Amino acid sequence: MGKSGYLPDISSQFHYFKSLALNELKQGNWNGATSGLNNLNRCLGEEYCVIISNSLYEKESNVSQVYLCNYCTQEEKKVINQGEEDEHIKIIQVPTRNPINQVIVYDQKLLYVDAILNGGEKRKVWDCLQCGKTNLIENTTQIIPKREQPYSLKVVPECPVKQNGIRDRINFRVDFTKWFYLFLEEISSQEVLYRTEWKAQNEGEEMTAYKDKGDLE
Ligand SMILES: [Zn+2]
Repeated sequence: MGKSGYLPDISSQFHYFKSLALNELKQGNWNGATSGLNNLNRCLGEEYCVIISNSLYEKESNVSQVYLCNYCTQEEKKVINQGEEDEHIKIIQVPTRNPINQVIVYDQKLLYVDAILNGGEKRKVWDCLQCGKTNLIENTTQIIPKREQPYSLKVVPECPVKQNGIRDRINFRVDFTKWFYLFLEEISSQEVLYRTEWKAQNEGEEMTAYKDKGDLE
């Protein structure tokens, strides 16, 4: 944060392409809807735009499955009061997230007395990558923090491909609509970050389209 260069006011273009994309979707014009979203995404510039990639999406969704450490915390950016006048980004402390694919789960042998108390000789544990402490699997919270603030992925899969046939056409409409809103949500959460950074650069000013919501429309 803060290391970026000058950010232009993108709010009017952003509003334009957003309503264009939604309008095209409503009319079942898939190509138009796609290019509307692509233009919307481009408004955000290189640093903030959402990446479109099947392989990266797959990888990120996997990596984003995590175990939470019971002993230590990490800093996280969170958008407070999203969409409100006093919207801002706050740094919060959350339990340290350990990507499941980087954690090794192993059996911990128990001492004789503990084994009697636990009703077994060993139990499944893992070591936190940050603090090194040993967490019991049975006491571990596992989460899939997919696309939940502040965990947006910043990557979406590629647009579904259209097939022939009536059945395929119905499926395509469902798949496309799902993809459309996934992409739009990711873009929107990036736009919040963009807008907050823009505001910081402009001493608390709002971008044009957000100055006085009552005058628009
Ligand atoms: Zn830890």
